[in-house]
Amino acid sequence: MPASGVLPKLGEQVIIAREGLQQLLELLKKQGHQLIGPTVRDGAIVYETITSETDLPVGVSDIQNAGSYQLGKRPDRAYFGFTVGPQSWKKFLFPPALKLFSANRNEEGFEVSNPRPETPNQKLAFIGVRSCELHALAIQDKIFLQGQYVDSYYKSVRDSLFIVAVNCGHAGGTCFCASMKTGPKATSGFDLSLTEITGVQSHYFVVEAGSEAGARILSQMPFKPAVPKEKKAAKQATQRALDEMGRVMETEGIKELLYRNYESPRWEKVAERCLSCANCTMVCPTCFCSTVEDVTDLTGDHAERWRKWDSCFTMDFSHIHGGNVRSSVKSRYRQWMTHKLATWVDQFGASGCVGCGRCITWCPVGIDITEEVKAIRQGEKP
Ligand code: SF4
Ligand code: SF4
Repeated sequence: MPASGVLPKLGEQVIIAREGLQQLLELLKKQGHQLIGPTVRDGAIVYETITSETDLPVGVSDIQNAGSYQLGKRPDRAYFGFTVGPQSWKKFLFPPALKLFSANRNEEGFEVSNPRPETPNQKLAFIGVRSCELHALAIQDKIFLQGQYVDSYYKSVRDSLFIVAVNCGHAGGTCFCASMKTGPKATSGFDLSLTEITGVQSHYFVVEAGSEAGARILSQMPFKPAVPKEKKAAKQATQRALDEMGRVMETEGIKELLYRNYESPRWEKVAERCLSCANCTMVCPTCFCSTVEDVTDLTGDHAERWRKWDSCFTMDFSHIHGGNVRSSVKSRYRQWMTHKLATWVDQFGASGCVGCGRCITWCPVGIDITEEVKAIRQGEKP
């Protein structure tokens, strides 16, 4: 089928064939984008550079529960038949380790070279961003772009980013995006959104353009307007994900609930299990804490300053003059959860949790944020 040459309206549902995905990837590459998408590595779905549709986890599903993650096989050849894995897209905008600058000793002292962090020299295209992840990106935009200080690395990647979202047709075992009103269907923050439909005889995508850039690229591909049957299939896929979602977070009055419960006995209870390992913050797509480390070579002639991800669960993070302000596991868990669900709202005007479920799946002892909120709520009942 030749390219349609027609500019679709934003939000209009059109159909591209299964083969259309590879054409889309080729067009993005032609525009100079480096493709980043889901792929299988070490028994998990991770986000890495991909070059074609064959790098995607075709026919792969995931089975997730509190403290457990496993890949499985689907009966079809779906490209996006899984949910979110251990990594989030934040690692491309807010790298886990970033050299801020280096300095070399000279006769007068030190001369700083590379006074700004190096930025990627290619524009990125994220392929397969889920609705909860779009919300997480919007939260990180507030942190890194909309405050008093703008993060230059984040901005350089974000400004040229092309986002292909994928609407979830299944819910992961630990997802609760419906409770957080962040999914499972993408409503904004993307250039193109895809709903993948697989059936006995059919395999196609219902596509919507969410930006002019998305509409322009779509016009260079063969597509046809969606008929009612195809629109219904897309709706049913979203409904299936909603019906499958096993976890719920009751958010009504959650900020006040946590503010009233600084002294709840539940914090002690969860601290008996929590290892303070920081996994939950590393996998979280919205957590943004970092620390700064200076290193030198053995001669002391060359020094570097690095920014690295840090976590409110590490002892060093809350060490200030005079000692540590959160020396118990109880106080660190309370800080993390209260920040996510209460103080974050005061700070940024939105919850710090998008309901992706990663912190539940990747907690080695299976601590579940939805259960902790429920327990605190129940603890208040007379
Ligand atoms: S809640 Fe779980 S993942 Fe988070 S620090 Fe505690 S043990 Fe680690
Ligand atoms: S707190 Fe947990 S469920 Fe919420 S966004 Fe972070 S990782 Fe996802």
